Amino acid sequence: MTSKEKVTILDGGFSSQLSKHMDTNFDKDPLWTARLLKTSPEVIIATHLDYLRAGSEIIETNTYQASIKGFTDHLQLTEEESFDLIKKAVHLAKEAINLFYNERKLITDDSNEYKPLVAGSCGPYGAFLHDRSEYTGSYHKNVSKDLLKNWHKSRVDALVDGGVDILAFETIPCELEAQAIVELLKDYPNTKAWISFSCSSDGKSIVDGSNFKTVACYCYESSIPGQIIAVGINCIAPSIVSSFFKDINGTDKSFVPLIVYPNSGETWTLETQWQKTGNEPSINDFVDEWLDLGVRFIGSCCRTYAEDITSIKKKVQAWQQVHTETSS
Ligand SMILES: [Zn+2]
Repeated sequence: MTSKEKVTILDGGFSSQLSKHMDTNFDKDPLWTARLLKTSPEVIIATHLDYLRAGSEIIETNTYQASIKGFTDHLQLTEEESFDLIKKAVHLAKEAINLFYNERKLITDDSNEYKPLVAGSCGPYGAFLHDRSEYTGSYHKNVSKDLLKNWHKSRVDALVDGGVDILAFETIPCELEAQAIVELLKDYPNTKAWISFSCSSDGKSIVDGSNFKTVACYCYESSIPGQIIAVGINCIAPSIVSSFFKDINGTDKSFVPLIVYPNSGETWTLETQWQKTGNEPSINDFVDEWLDLGVRFIGSCCRTYAEDITSIKKKVQAWQQVHTETSS
């Protein structure tokens, strides 16, 4: 297996798994689960630990819907306290990793074992607006690139200060925000990042209507070489992922590492919330196909749990086994 074939396992839906520890619905909270950074840090650590035990090699901080402005508005904190609360999210993730590491050392002595990394979750500006616009990208008509850049910057500063290994820009719904992120990242040349988009069900577009492949490849190619570790999609039905990724990687092309962390495939509407039909195909049905297309970071998003990560990891290990055998 070459380093090009190394596949990294992410975590799954944070709020889904968290619901196993706490029976609260955060959908109507403008801070979503980020409120727990102040009120229930022990539940955040417990949720991270579930994913680490399930096999996640990268866990994401509980900061998808966290922002300085959100914390000053809704938790009545000062800007400095808000900054520190975002940093605390990184420390909680690291604390979970230390607990996991010590726990595992009791079971295995293998020094080759991986030490999991922390990715700082950076949800889009639309998540802060709390109007579901991360699933339409409609705000790109009303805001400037500079506004988006500055809005992301304060949280990125806190996450980097807290010591994240990677920045995870996710559910990005418009080209303008992706451009703002690419520009912003130039100010953090030593910090790695991924950019994951919110895409439509047509199999080719970001939800603002721009072409996924064009925008994603632009982001990858125009960043500092090596800084963006992958581009891809999250919170999408598993059945439509492959059509976005076709034709990005081929034998005659330079390799673009892809990332995907789909939701359960259930449908969401404002009236009904998440609805299960029972016919949703499983993420596992597509893992081989995605890896063949160049997916190198894989996890899952809303309505998925730690056990989903365990089964994704088994599929990935089987794929890697075959590739080790064929390349040796
Ligand atoms: Zn999601």
